[in-house]
Amino acid sequence: MKVLVGVKRVIDYNVKVRVKADGTGVETANVKMSMNPFDEIGVEEAVRLKEKGIATEIVAVSMGPAASQETLRTALAMGADRGILVQTDAELQPLAVAKLFKAIAERESPQLVIVGKQAIDDDSNQTGQMLAALLGWSQGTFASKVAPAEGGLEVTREVDGGLETLALRLPAVVTTDLRLNEPRYASLPNIMKAKKKPIETLTPEALGVDAAPRLVTLKVAEPAKRLAGVKVKDVGELVDKLKNEAKVI
Ligand code: AMP
Repeated sequence: MKVLVGVKRVIDYNVKVRVKADGTGVETANVKMSMNPFDEIGVEEAVRLKEKGIATEIVAVSMGPAASQETLRTALAMGADRGILVQTDAELQPLAVAKLFKAIAERESPQLVIVGKQAIDDDSNQTGQMLAALLGWSQGTFASKVAPAEGGLEVTREVDGGLETLALRLPAVVTTDLRLNEPRYASLPNIMKAKKKPIETLTPEALGVDAAPRLVTLKVAEPAKRLAGVKVKDVGELVDKLKNEAKVI
């Protein structure tokens, strides 16, 4: 089966994110960017499905500025076969991303689309669910295990208080959770090979998708600074402070 994997270029998870002085967003100039960690897990899962002989072709898809090519190259070095870049400098919100994925799914006819459970920049956790709804496909979100099964896939989901196992008919959308797998590092020979793999560049207009934002960001602010702690001399003082100062007991 053909697998489509979403790979978003986001601020690297090790970077301390700074809010722009005018409160319109976060600083991205001269900041290290990487593949969204949940998408690395998605690529790894697709590559494992190919190694098991279940997936036949892996197409990595990224939407965003031209620099998202780097993210696609990382996916190709990990084992994806080819890439599609939907290039735009405009802000893309989850509904627009889901519509673009739908348009690509209609061109490519994959049996499986894997996206992360969330992008660590917007923390929306919406794209996979919206895409499954737009396509009318089965969905297995927060997957911690994906296994081939009679007529489709068996997906184990991380839910509050435990694990839920679903049988999905294909085509389906799966969103990855942290414990699904541990992504591999691309080897140097594979990084070299990835340079020769094809990347097709499209635009939202060419796909016939109106990608205009539907939500307006009013303000972005840093979280309130934590106050310094105090040392108490005994339990009595602690209880007194919790009762009379913090008023939590
Ligand atoms: P979100 O709903 O924004 O939290 O994103 C969930 C997942 O959708 C991400 O982990 C990606 O797999 C996919 N996704 C979101 N935005 C993009 C994008 N611009 N390009 C490629 N994939 C994306």
